Amino acid sequence: MVPMTPRRATRQVKVGNERTGVVLIGGGLAPGQGPVDREQPPLSQPGSHTPEQRQGGDAAGVPAPVSVQTMTSGFTHEIDKCVAEIHKLTAAGADIVRVAVPERKDTQALPEILRQTTVPIVADVHFHYKRALESIEAGVHKIRLNPGNISDRAQVEDVIRACREAQIPIRVGVNEGSIIERKDKQKRANELASVFSDRRHGAMLAIMIAKLEEYLDIFYDNNFFDVVISAKSMDATLVIDAYTEIAARFDHPLHLGVTHAGPQETGCIRSIAALGALLSRGIGDTIRISYASDPIYEVEDGLELLWSLGLRERSGAELIACPTCGRIQVDLFTLTQQVRAKLAEQVQVPMKVAVMGCVVNGPGEAEGADVAVFAGDRKGIIYVQGQRVATVSEHEILDRLLHECLEFQERIRRGEARLGEKKVQIIPPDPEGELGSGWEKMAAARLTIEGK
Ligand code: SF4
Repeated sequence: MVPMTPRRATRQVKVGNERTGVVLIGGGLAPGQGPVDREQPPLSQPGSHTPEQRQGGDAAGVPAPVSVQTMTSGFTHEIDKCVAEIHKLTAAGADIVRVAVPERKDTQALPEILRQTTVPIVADVHFHYKRALESIEAGVHKIRLNPGNISDRAQVEDVIRACREAQIPIRVGVNEGSIIERKDKQKRANELASVFSDRRHGAMLAIMIAKLEEYLDIFYDNNFFDVVISAKSMDATLVIDAYTEIAARFDHPLHLGVTHAGPQETGCIRSIAALGALLSRGIGDTIRISYASDPIYEVEDGLELLWSLGLRERSGAELIACPTCGRIQVDLFTLTQQVRAKLAEQVQVPMKVAVMGCVVNGPGEAEGADVAVFAGDRKGIIYVQGQRVATVSEHEILDRLLHECLEFQERIRRGEARLGEKKVQIIPPDPEGELGSGWEKMAAARLTIEGK
């Protein structure tokens, strides 16, 4: 699938090893090339590296597919529960899983957790740089540092040295709210207020960029470029502006996220508004959607976002369902949820499955569906690639639709059918007449099959 906008080229970072599988983040930037806007002066203190000094790549070609990350929600030192959660998130499709290591007992648990899991693990380190060193010693595959709470140059250099020896990358995450000391905040805000005065959160944006520049200079001074950048906020507009600026100023791959987005119900909107805007413009190499909910939803929604934008090949069925209206004659909400759950469990082939309430708009909206049900009059008519295969009562729709999906999946696997090959077309209802549910037209088989 071709994405709508070419991905931004970056340096490339590798996470994981032979045992876990290697996840590549970013890429496509050849030495000497770069997305860095040379007209952008550094915002940080004099002596900062210039854009030219920050520029350079190591991996010509195309960027790696955008990966999906999440974070465990339980205690890392509760090894069995942590491993079980990692397994659950991996099964849901997480490419990389991050764990918190606030205490020594958490880093002590890491060797056993790493032994029992097969996905790249990132240690999330705040305040105590020794937790980073202990995590590296334990064998994690990446470290996350927060410039706001580990800023001592000597400590950062110790972590850089250890990561270089272990050949693992570091994510520098400049979350809004934790990046600057309270006493310094107003002074820096005043100094930088004019830089992005046309932006909604211009002062904070400038502080985030300046802090990032200062922090990354430590890495560049130590000739360490194996870096991923994130710049999260709970405000979607600040997230969009921050990553857009960072994409123009640095050539490192970007980890996108909206932090403290809230529960899934509202956090989903906030996250997708920001990440969708950035990804659709080619910005972003790995994502974490953050919810105050079970992290499995972060994985599911992150994957759905990437699939929707054509940034990842879909695995499993794609469900199309009508929003329902006054023409509905079956319980479509329940049916749709049941179909979704069954497809997630049993279908691995990326077929399109449509669940439509009637035939008035259904055929157009379900165009291209491999398997479809059009409901009406407490019944459902099921199609497989344009062929009407069954008419069943409402309570039989779920089982029969799933049966047809599984049969179709086997035909695909045997090479006897191809995805999206045939479409159903139904004669539009007479706009002057009584539309009803359209069931009569279906029952009378007033339809044509493309190619027949
Ligand atoms: S498919 Fe039919 S029932 Fe569903 S929203 Fe469209 S017109 Fe209404």
